[in-house]
Amino acid sequence: MSDAPTVTRPAPGEIAPPLALLAELTHRCPLRCPYCSNPLELDRASRELSTEEWKRVFSEAAALGVLQVHFSGGEPTARRDIVELVAHAAKVGLYTNLITSGVLLDHDNTAALASAGLDHVQLSFQDTDAANADRIAGLDKAHRKKLAAAKLIRDAGLPLTLNAVMHRQNLDRLPEMIELAVALGAQRLEVAHVQYYGWALQNRRALFPTYEALERATEIVEAARARLKGVLTIDYVVPDYYARRPKACMGGWARQFINISPAGKALPCHAAETLPGFDWPSIKTTSLRDVWYGSEAFNRYRGTAWMPEPCRSCDRREIDWGGCRCQAFEFTGDASRTDPACALAPDRSILDAARADALGPATEFVYRQIGGAPAR
Ligand code: SF4
Ligand code: SF4
Repeated sequence: MSDAPTVTRPAPGEIAPPLALLAELTHRCPLRCPYCSNPLELDRASRELSTEEWKRVFSEAAALGVLQVHFSGGEPTARRDIVELVAHAAKVGLYTNLITSGVLLDHDNTAALASAGLDHVQLSFQDTDAANADRIAGLDKAHRKKLAAAKLIRDAGLPLTLNAVMHRQNLDRLPEMIELAVALGAQRLEVAHVQYYGWALQNRRALFPTYEALERATEIVEAARARLKGVLTIDYVVPDYYARRPKACMGGWARQFINISPAGKALPCHAAETLPGFDWPSIKTTSLRDVWYGSEAFNRYRGTAWMPEPCRSCDRREIDWGGCRCQAFEFTGDASRTDPACALAPDRSILDAARADALGPATEFVYRQIGGAPAR
């Protein structure tokens, strides 16, 4: 039986509660993907929130009106208390989703997660070619373990989504990736082109696809969507560098998501920690409710009042919310500028130059590692 608390929702016209909480349980991960979305400065295990602190976060999230919790990382199953945390989140009434590389799953922990009330699993694949997949992951036999993990997940009766991060070094095998998702019994496939923040930015020249390759990939996805209707749902995320309008990053700043870092920093998205000039609230000292409604950091780019032109008078301002603040900062040094992924942005030429640079000769991977990227 659920112990779901009574939810107090704000009155109409007030800020809506977050839809989902992304719980980055740990930055530890056996893999070393060169496009990892974790920050360059990874939190060490000694700084991670305790089991009781995470449980309090989930209870507060449910009381705030959050509907879903995504267990992420790093590799969330590297936490020895993962089953206990899933059980608590399910008990307080949250829909629970595990985002995993799968390499630490075995029969026992997969069955225990299912029994604890886990609702769904997203399993990442680096490629369909085993040797290249292991090279991208930076771990021997990773691909073989992922294939085994997919079977364990399905055998435990859990719904499965495959996450495929696509780029210059695996895009040719997109048709095989789609077939793999069907063969493994996934209901959904997320085909996500790399977005260039953090580690991926370090590896931009190694990963960035040509426009022709992107167009081919889009045609393949569209044909597969029609052919596999009712069998496999395919989500598709294109790289911002080729976009004419930006994506509504995280559904807009502090509108739908709240992200908690392994050490307990509350952020409106996983990349926001890179923005300077913020005093990110810690859930060790601030309640989730105060973070969401009261913190200066969450309110700074919420809504439309902060927007400069051309966003301020644009009819898409409540569709894409001016794009991504982290990307605006990355390109212009000012997070309050219009995202240069928008063709209307005054700084669009900076993105055009970055795209030309990204198309240069491929570089070697800089693998994700504790201690940050080595100087180049
Ligand atoms: S992207 Fe790769 S390295 Fe980063 S957390 Fe996921 S599996 Fe680990
Ligand atoms: S001008 Fe601003 S609101 Fe309009 S499409 Fe571009 S980023 Fe979106």
